[in-house]
Amino acid sequence: MPHYFATVYGAGLAGCAIANYLLNAGKSVLIVDPRVDLDGTPGPPAALVNPAMGRYAKLSWEAEACHAAIRERAFELMQFSGQTDLIAETGVLRPAINEDLAVNFKAAIDAHDWPEGWISWIDADETLQRVPTLDQPHGALFLPHGFTVYVEKYQNAYRKLLAFKGATFTTKEFIRKELPNGQYELKSSSGEVHTSENIIVAAGSGSLDFPEFSEVPLHRVKGQIATFEADHDLDWEIAVSAMGYILRMGARGIVAGSTYEHNQNNLDLTEQAYQQILYKMFKIMPSLSGKIIKTGQQAGIRVTTPNKLPVIGRHPNHPGLSIYTALGSKGLLFSEHVAAILGEHLVNDAPISDDLDVKRYFVKSI
Ligand SMILES: Cc1cc2nc3c(=O)[nH]c(=O)nc-3n(C[C@H](O)[C@H](O)[C@H](O)COP(=O)(O)OP(=O)(O)OC[C@H]3O[C@@H](n4cnc5c(N)ncnc54)[C@H](O)[C@@H]3O)c2cc1C
Repeated sequence: MPHYFATVYGAGLAGCAIANYLLNAGKSVLIVDPRVDLDGTPGPPAALVNPAMGRYAKLSWEAEACHAAIRERAFELMQFSGQTDLIAETGVLRPAINEDLAVNFKAAIDAHDWPEGWISWIDADETLQRVPTLDQPHGALFLPHGFTVYVEKYQNAYRKLLAFKGATFTTKEFIRKELPNGQYELKSSSGEVHTSENIIVAAGSGSLDFPEFSEVPLHRVKGQIATFEADHDLDWEIAVSAMGYILRMGARGIVAGSTYEHNQNNLDLTEQAYQQILYKMFKIMPSLSGKIIKTGQQAGIRVTTPNKLPVIGRHPNHPGLSIYTALGSKGLLFSEHVAAILGEHLVNDAPISDDLDVKRYFVKSI
């Protein structure tokens, strides 16, 4: 009967990152995901690695370590796949759309402990030089280390890398049984059986369906994006983050989004969300009106926790069962660094800080 060090549920950013960590540590890994096809799985066209969080551009959690980890992986994937276009060095521009925001943005530079060279203020003229389609910006924050990731390509390359490193992928469903030694036996409906020292739930919004973790206050936030093609070559490359984001793809492509729809557990594409995306995009770049056509719309579901940080670690009453989810809207930035923390814990028993550890939600039952 096959035995794995870990069975990972979910082959998204979290599942791929923890599987990769474990494979690099010489461990055997099975990845279960009903939606993933190794020949190519549809995914989001583009998203942003943006170390500035929220409305007032706060430095995100452990940003330097997170940034270094995702960059390292992106370069490994580009080298492995031979695809040089998994990311684009776009930087991130956060234009101030009014004077109040300009004041707050300038204050954000000193309010947080930004690494040297990570953030600067540029005036209105320079902002317009960089992104001529912006409408009368009041200056902008510029984050040169932010970058755009072409997520579908990135994830498909990642899964191939994992298979190359020895991971087994399956789309089958399994019934789990905890064994007396704390390990798990998994049986598929076709009678396939294997054992696993660890089960890692990295199933994004599907993680809420694992009853053992029902005490964890995971919250679903649906998001929709839309893609567009302009009728002319666009004259800016920088990723723009204002009332959402506007990202570039190719000479004429735009990815704009996204909505925040709380407590939604469906991937329905709605006209209301599309109109909201259009409204925000034209508020930032009104000159695009009449010059772009819609080429697509997609929906996804983010998972968050109250402290807006991922949740990782072993279930206190079922130590063979771990979780890695709640990457929120910073999945790219968090995925690799947090996977390394969880991986170190599973392989070498390294501690997990209280702000990430799932145990905090089980205090009463320990
Ligand atoms: C519209 C939108 C825009 C976003 N923009 C950005 C951005 O610009 N930058 C950024 O960093 N982040 C962004 N995010 C957030 C980012 O996409 C998420 O943080 C990230 O996808 C979470 O990764 P994950 O692996 O935890 O979950 P997911 O990506 O949801 O992957 C979970 C995987 O688990 C599988 N699964 C589900 N249930 C099961 C099950 N029972 N068994 C096995 N497998 C299962 C699913 O098929 C899926 O493949 C955005 C999210 C949305 C929705």
